[in-house]
Amino acid sequence: MNRRERLLEEMGLGPVWRLRENRERQRAPDGPPPPSAPRRPAPPRFDPAPGIKGSAKVDLADDRAARILRMEWPELKSAVKSCEACGLRKTCTQTVFGVGDEEADWLLVGEAPGAEEDTRGEPFVGQAGRLLDNMLAAIGLSRGENVYICNVLKCRPPGNRNPEPFEVAQCSPHLLRQLELIKPKLILAMGRFAVQTLLGTEASIASLRGRLHRYQGVPLIVTYHPAYLLRNLPDKAKAWEDLCFARAAVAGL
Ligand code: SF4
Repeated sequence: MNRRERLLEEMGLGPVWRLRENRERQRAPDGPPPPSAPRRPAPPRFDPAPGIKGSAKVDLADDRAARILRMEWPELKSAVKSCEACGLRKTCTQTVFGVGDEEADWLLVGEAPGAEEDTRGEPFVGQAGRLLDNMLAAIGLSRGENVYICNVLKCRPPGNRNPEPFEVAQCSPHLLRQLELIKPKLILAMGRFAVQTLLGTEASIASLRGRLHRYQGVPLIVTYHPAYLLRNLPDKAKAWEDLCFARAAVAGL
């Protein structure tokens, strides 16, 4: 089994891929051709679900937000490090700014740091991070190469509780500025909270998958959070569909 097959197997997709290869090998020299491969899906198009407002709120009239939105990378990183705009900095170990290629085509956005991220200062580490790395590798991407990863919130909510609206409002300018500086081709929003925050909706991930949305004008695709996939193995196949959809979208943008 090669590396790609191992990655797909870990995502619960190995048998599907081996089946196609076997069909090619099993074709008799003078026999009928094997069933044709599935037709390529039509190029993704913008198709937001009804009720999508298309952005988390950033009050541009607010002085603090306006200041953040003028910052370059060094200033922004230092502003996040010393930020105490909501109560979360008092209870977390450190801020978790984000990691990766600052000129990436792909921006991956999750909810907030968990316990391990809080300890290490990097988003998506531990078991969920390893799964994410393997998912990226399966479509030819890797953390740090044309990919940037961050969260809506830069500080860990105590006990991994859901973020409060005030905390999201205070931290959203940081994310928006990261987005403006990176200028990605596509945002992959991972997990219910990130999806609902960025799209300003309470709709489920299931109802929002498979469509091209926008956040602040940037195309956005939704998928499940890797930590959720670790608990719900059958949904790995759906996450794989989302990644393939995202890859096709980036290729067509
Ligand atoms: S979560 Fe965001 S707004 Fe709140 S203290 Fe941390 S960096 Fe500041």
